[in-house]
Order: sequence, then C-alpha cells, then structure tokens
Amino acid sequence: MIYLDAAATSPVRREVLEAMWPYLTGDFGNPSSHHAVGESAARALAEARTTVATWLGCRASELTFTSGGTEADNLAIKGIALANPRGRHIVTTRIEHEAVLESVDYLVRLHGFSVSFVPVGRDGLVAAADFAAALRPDTTLASVMLANNEVGTIQPIAQLAALAHEHGIPFHTDAVQAAGWLPLDVRTLGVDALSVSGHKIGAPKGVGVLYVRGRIPVEPLIHGGGQERGRRSGTENVAGAVGLATAARLVMERLAADDGDGRATAASAASKSRDAFIAAVLDEAPGASLTGHPTARLPGTASFVFPGTNGEAVLLELERRGTVCSSGSACAAGSEDASHVLLALGYPDDLARTAVRFSWGPDTTAAELAAVAPAVGDAVRTVSALGR
Ligand code: PLP
Repeated sequence: MIYLDAAATSPVRREVLEAMWPYLTGDFGNPSSHHAVGESAARALAEARTTVATWLGCRASELTFTSGGTEADNLAIKGIALANPRGRHIVTTRIEHEAVLESVDYLVRLHGFSVSFVPVGRDGLVAAADFAAALRPDTTLASVMLANNEVGTIQPIAQLAALAHEHGIPFHTDAVQAAGWLPLDVRTLGVDALSVSGHKIGAPKGVGVLYVRGRIPVEPLIHGGGQERGRRSGTENVAGAVGLATAARLVMERLAADDGDGRATAASAASKSRDAFIAAVLDEAPGASLTGHPTARLPGTASFVFPGTNGEAVLLELERRGTVCSSGSACAAGSEDASHVLLALGYPDDLARTAVRFSWGPDTTAAELAAVAPAVGDAVRTVSALGR
C-alpha cells in the first residue's frame, strides 16, 4: 500500500514515540504538582516549549500548546478578535481550513463581526493589492493560510503581513500544512500569530501549538485551572508536547540538511520528485490538469482534476490498485459537497467533484511516486469508461 494522504495525517515517528514514552509511564506527573514527579513533567514541558520556540524563532512564553491545529486556529481567530478592542471586522479568504472559516462565522453570528473574503486566483494565490483593498480602519484581525491543504499553493505571507501592519492590524497564519516543508520563523514571516498541528509532522493527533506575538491580548476559550499562562486551561498534554517538540526538531534537522556538500535540500529534492510525478500523471491521464499554483506550491502535494470522472470513484479505483489518497480535504470528510477551495478558485461544481489530491511526507520515495502515476491513468480510464 502506498500512502499518499499525508496532508490528512502522518504516522508517529519512532523517535517521537520514544521521546514521549517516559511521560506516559514513569514520568507521568502533572506539571502543576509540587513534588518531584510533577516537577519532572514541568521540566519536560518547559523543554518542549523551548524547542518549539527555536523552531518558530519566538520566545517560549509566546507559545500555547493546544489540542491540535483546529484549536490553535480557534484560539487565534476568536481569542485575538474578542480581546482586541479595535473593531469588529475580519479579513480572510474562502480557501482557509474550516477551523478558520467556522471560527470567523461564529464571530459573525454571535459577536456582530463582519468579514471580507479576499479573492484568490485560479492558482489559489491571494494578490497583495486585493488583500490591501480589504483592510479597513475597523479591521480587528487578518488571517491567511501559509499553504493550502487541498491544492498546496503557498501564499506570500511576509508581504501580506507587512500590509496588515501598515494599518496596525494583527496577522494570523495557519501553518498546519506548511510545517513539515517550509521554514516557519515568525520574524521572517512577520506574523503575529501562527498555528501548527502535531499529526501532520510525525507527532500524534491531538496536540498543536499557537504562537501569539508578545503582548497581543488573547481571550481564552477554555476556562479552568489557568494552565498555559491562563490562555488554555486543562492539565497539559505533556507527552504530546514532548512529541510535538521532537517532531519539530526532526523537521528542523531535515530542512537544515542543505546542499553545502552537494546534496539537494530535503524540500528541493521533494519538489523535484513532485514535479516528475505531476508530469507523469498529466502524461498518463490526458485531459487532467493540476490544481493550485504551478511553482509556489508545497513539495509534498499535487492535486488534479480529471474531467469526465468522479473524484470519489477514482479514489476507489486507486485504492484497489494499492494507493490511498484523498478526493478533497479529509478534514471535511463525510461531506458530499464539492471542495470549497476549488469552488473559491473558480472551478465549476461538476469539475471540482473530479478532484483527487495526492500528498506525501519525507519518507515517500521518488520510485513510489513514479509507480503511482500509471495507476492513476488506469484508474481514470476505468472510471471514464464506466461513465461515473
Ligand atoms: N488547518 C489546516 C490547513 C489543516 O490542513 C488542518 C487539518 O487537516 C487543520 C488546520 C486542523 O488541524 P487538526 O487536525 O490538528 O485539528
């Protein structure tokens, strides 16, 4: 079985599990406990926070561990908007993850906010001029994802954040999909808030982190014992935080393995395999087209539309041929609707329903990708012939 659904989730890496194990067994303490067992857990949590801070180029005190990307996005959007007295207007895009879109919708429905959706091009890119035009004196927060989970397009976040700052507007980015591939230094990106999820980078499901710059106020969403500096109550998921930090360290090591000795960087090597895969799929399945931006895209994502087919049917045919992938965003699994991302990119509903997303992690080989391309052609031909 070739697993090409890494954008949905990835397996826990061995090093991550090994680092977590002590905090699930012998060192099982509650970091708030005033005894040796608790202090050991508190130390592990502090070390995990420091490692994540190194990864994101921020201070440890600027981080809040959460239950995942969804909670990090919720805390960023609702937490910053509700604590910011500036106004009641949000700027975002229609291609954000549901965690952002539904949080914004909540603010609109229950807190009197209004929202401006910046348009995106067919390639999934936000144009800086369109973004600037959406900013208003009463804009409370702007949120644009670093990389899209369905089509893989990477946004010019530093440029957009700088525009927001010209008006004193805080800028959040959902970096959940970018995390395993792109540098996430918050100073370079120029963002005020950034969300990450553990299970996309080899840590377990159910842990994530939100960075919020310095003294930007955040209204907590979960109330209780005041953990995480009052921003997120609840006994800390120590093992999860250790796992996330270990996965972050592995990502840093992988991305830093540059071509100083003539080897390609992990990301550029992956981009080459991706481009070869894209070319092979387009060759095997005439009529198919790539979605998203041709070059400003994640090294591990390639999504296509296959006119005259049905994405779900292609998916099933591919699974029968030994490859698992996704027909849209797995995070919205169960939904029969066409992808909201492709609709926002201007794809008609019937074409959007023919989409199939392939996504992979650092361990997927070029040979595996090469083996999948003919199966894609075969699956598409089978589905087209059956008229599904
Ligand atoms: N944001 C993006 C871009 C995602 O792709 C996902 C999950 O796929 C999330 C947020 C939600 O993260 P989690 O599954 O950790 O809640």
